[in-house]
Amino acid sequence: MSGLQIIFQCVHFLDGFVWAQEEDVWKWRLEDRGVFSVKSSYAKLEDINFPFGNILPPDVPIVCTFCDRMPESSTHLFLHCDIAQGVWLKMMGWLDCYFLIPTNMFVHWKCWDERYRNDRIRKGLRLIWHTTIWVLRKARNNKIFNNWNGGVDEIVEEIKIMSWRWMLERTNSL
Ligand SMILES: [Zn+2]
Repeated sequence: MSGLQIIFQCVHFLDGFVWAQEEDVWKWRLEDRGVFSVKSSYAKLEDINFPFGNILPPDVPIVCTFCDRMPESSTHLFLHCDIAQGVWLKMMGWLDCYFLIPTNMFVHWKCWDERYRNDRIRKGLRLIWHTTIWVLRKARNNKIFNNWNGGVDEIVEEIKIMSWRWMLERTNSL
């Protein structure tokens, strides 16, 4: 079963489901209700001049943290670095949704977003896209500041877990 089918089944299965207990709450801090939304995620990313500006703090290396070869830019870090490409390839394989990685983030988002007409699937895919960017950025910061030394597989696992959690929270709040 592909990731897309799993997402669709999950959303369908959880429709109308309400948690009975308050423990283990997973909150999205950018929203008052604590629920993930693409709007708040995008606003936050725009807030840090993403994706057209340089979101990286000034005191970081000029060379890409992941590959140590190319200049570090948002486009390289999130799309074209070997790590990023590996992550997107695995995500595309998981979701059974393939396209060539384009030259910039905006086109990538368009390619990702326009593949399905079903609203629920699109919402799930948007959430996964933002989560992927978020986790890549976090991995890069962890490598700089915490000597994290993981790779594509660890990043992909975290994306899946985070997407799953956000999706549960979101479904629960409807
Ligand atoms: Zn790189």
